[in-house]
Formats: sequence, structure tokens, C-alpha cells
Amino acid sequence: MLFRSTAVFLIMETFVDFSPQAKIKQYQHSGKAPVVGVMSAILIGSVVAAGGGIVYCNVVTNVQMVIAEVVFSLMYSFAFGLTTGVMARKGKIRSTTWLLICVFTVTLVGLYFEWAFHPFFALGEDQRFVAWSPIQIMDWGQAVFQKGGEINGWTAVCVWALEATAIFVFAGAFAISQISHPFCEKCDCWTESREGIGFFKYPFGRVVLIGRLFKGNAESLLECEATSPMASSHLRLDMHMCPLCMDACFLTATHVSQRFNAKGEKELKEQAMFENIRMTPDELADIIAVGTRPSSNTRDLMLQ
Ligand SMILES: [Zn+2]
Repeated sequence: MLFRSTAVFLIMETFVDFSPQAKIKQYQHSGKAPVVGVMSAILIGSVVAAGGGIVYCNVVTNVQMVIAEVVFSLMYSFAFGLTTGVMARKGKIRSTTWLLICVFTVTLVGLYFEWAFHPFFALGEDQRFVAWSPIQIMDWGQAVFQKGGEINGWTAVCVWALEATAIFVFAGAFAISQISHPFCEKCDCWTESREGIGFFKYPFGRVVLIGRLFKGNAESLLECEATSPMASSHLRLDMHMCPLCMDACFLTATHVSQRFNAKGEKELKEQAMFENIRMTPDELADIIAVGTRPSSNTRDLMLQ
């Protein structure tokens, strides 16, 4: 009888949402960007971008292979983008806009050095010339536009614009990854992360429940069953918590699918269900208690 009523409830609940609509609070950066943080991100980022720009220019001028140029531009943007991001994190920048302004400035510095040294590497041993002033860079650009080697004219301009845009976009993405997790405004520090604090079975077939989870209703996890991290399809919980207080507490859930391919290699697919949802320590403790108890079934516990 108990089993039958549970089954009926489960079927109904798959299609009808009985739960009260929870207030969902997703973390958002406060937008603060301390001046010292911005200055140091630009300064240190620019040093790496300038040095890297000269090396990048040398490599690209000598290699002249499209695929190698793409790989080197990625490595170049990674180097100064990551540096700028790390400095922004140290300088407690909690604003994506301000970080992108830093990366934009740093990219301009890098491109300036890349262009200044282009004649130095392109003209060869006989004429070692660095176009230090913007006017010299303009003159050099015009010379390449009119009679450049590999490419010239508007094709060259398009390639330059594409290259500069790609470098900025990649560097920006690398930098943002460094400040993407929650900050505790009260204690003025970044939260600490812990991956895999609980594992739940993916609730296949329960569309309403899946919908609620995708909307960031973390408490709905209490309706899921715990499982092992080895399960082929599961939800992994990660936590971000302030090291100094109990006020900044955030939960992220990721759907992980894993399988072994024909070669016996493990293939992982991850999809975020919700990210950085603010929780009270009690709410989080309840969820962790269920998510770390693989043998038990929450529904059975509730019905006992
Ligand atoms: Zn705190």
C-alpha cells in the first residue's frame, strides 16, 4: 500500500509541481573594483603582454604557418590574460566590466609592442629597426598594406583585426575565469571552493524536478537519491564558502555523464544545472547529509 501510494505520488509529481516556489538567490559580483587592484592588474599584465608581444611577433614572423600562428596567439593571450586575471583576483576586483577594461588596455600595450618589433624581425639581419613611435608604426603598417610579403591590402587589415579581436577575447576569457567564483563582501575575501561534497542520482524522467533544479532551486535536491561519484550519470555538488564567516555559502550542481569509449578511456561530459546559489549553512548541511549517504533513499526515510 505504501509502495503504491509512493508510486502514484511519484508519477503525479513528474508532471505537476507541488512545491512552494522557493526564493532563489544566485550570487552576483558587487561590481567593486579597488583602484590599487585595477592599477596592478594593468601594470603587471602589461609587462607580460609587452614581453610576450615581442616573442609572439618573432615567432609569427618566422614560422608563417596558419595553424602555428593560431596556437601561438592562444598561448600569448593565455599568458597575459591569466596574469591580468590573477592580479585582479589578488586586487579583489569583483567587476567583470572593470576586468575587461584592464584586459583591453593590456591587449593594446601588447599589440603596440608586437607592431613596434614587427619591422625588426621582418626586415632581417641587415636592417634592425624598431618602430617605437605610433607614427613609425603607422608608416610601417602602410608599407605592409601596399607591398607586404605573404598578405597585403585589405586582406591583411582583416587578418590583423581578426587577430587582435581573437587575442582580446581569449585573454578576456582566461582573465574572467580567475574572478568567477563568489566573494564575501562582509569579510572582504574570496570564498574557498570544495568540489564533490555530495553526489546525487540524476532524476531521469522527473521533468518537473529537473526543471526546478535548472531554475536554481537547490532544495529540490532533497528529493533526489544519493549515489556514488562512480555512477555513469550523476549530479555533483560543489561548495563555495567564506573561510571567515558563515554568511557566504554557495552551492553549484553539475550533471556529470561518464562512460568508457572503445579504447577504454574515460569520457566525461559536464553540464551546469545551477551555479552559486546562496544557501544558509543549515540548508546546505541538510543537502550534504542526504548527498553523502549513498545507500539511503530520502523518500523512504521521509515515509518511515
Ligand atoms: Zn565572510
